[in-house]
Amino acid sequence: MDAAVLTTPAVLILLGPPGAGKGTQARMLEEKYGLVQLSTGDLLRAAVAAGTDAGKAAKAVMEAGGLVSDEIVINILRDRLGEADCAKGVILDGFPRTTVQAEALDVLLGETGQKINAAISLEVDDAAMVGRISGRFTCGGCGEGYHDSFKPLPDTGACSNCGSTEMKRRADDNAETVGSRLEAYHAQTAPLIAYYEGKGALQKIDAMGGIDEIAQGLATVVKGAMD
Ligand code: AMP
Repeated sequence: MDAAVLTTPAVLILLGPPGAGKGTQARMLEEKYGLVQLSTGDLLRAAVAAGTDAGKAAKAVMEAGGLVSDEIVINILRDRLGEADCAKGVILDGFPRTTVQAEALDVLLGETGQKINAAISLEVDDAAMVGRISGRFTCGGCGEGYHDSFKPLPDTGACSNCGSTEMKRRADDNAETVGSRLEAYHAQTAPLIAYYEGKGALQKIDAMGGIDEIAQGLATVVKGAMD
């Protein structure tokens, strides 16, 4: 299946703990199906960098690995969903993270007659997550994701996608904060698996393998969800 056969805008949700591969896989789905990746983490980091009121309120919570208030995140998401490019369909990466956010999303989508095609849970063990997160970095030029062990830069030291040599590591990708982020996931986000199961929208995939293996599993699920 390719972008050409997507006749209606799809709404896909990627669920999973930090380090499960949501961002990497969302980027791949974006390219493959012409969908728009909506990462509330990216939107919040942009708000922090821009020094907006929402960014100022979110900064300390993000640094501590907690969850930013539902109100701030829902407002940011609502504004972004209203932009024209989202009419092509979206992949939600890192949203919803609480039941309040999931219910707000149902209402927002209902307003435009859209619905969720699938909520896909990337299933991983906590033990593997610290290594995955602490080794990762992204290209400052194009956002391509890399990892010290699993996806190192080419020998040239430049991004294989855009040629930039400027790389970024997230401030919250350190061993101490990862513990709090995993705790927040289990306490507040994992219950969404049952929420979407109850709606008949849940799909689970094994995300312990490599990037390409996970992408293959995801492609099968996405195809089924959009047929
Ligand atoms: P992420 O890039 O998805 O790992 O998110 C980075 C941080 O942004 C999280 O640890 C939270 O502090 C915050 N964040 C991102 N998305 C949400 C959300 N949907 N609800 C609450 N906080 C969020």
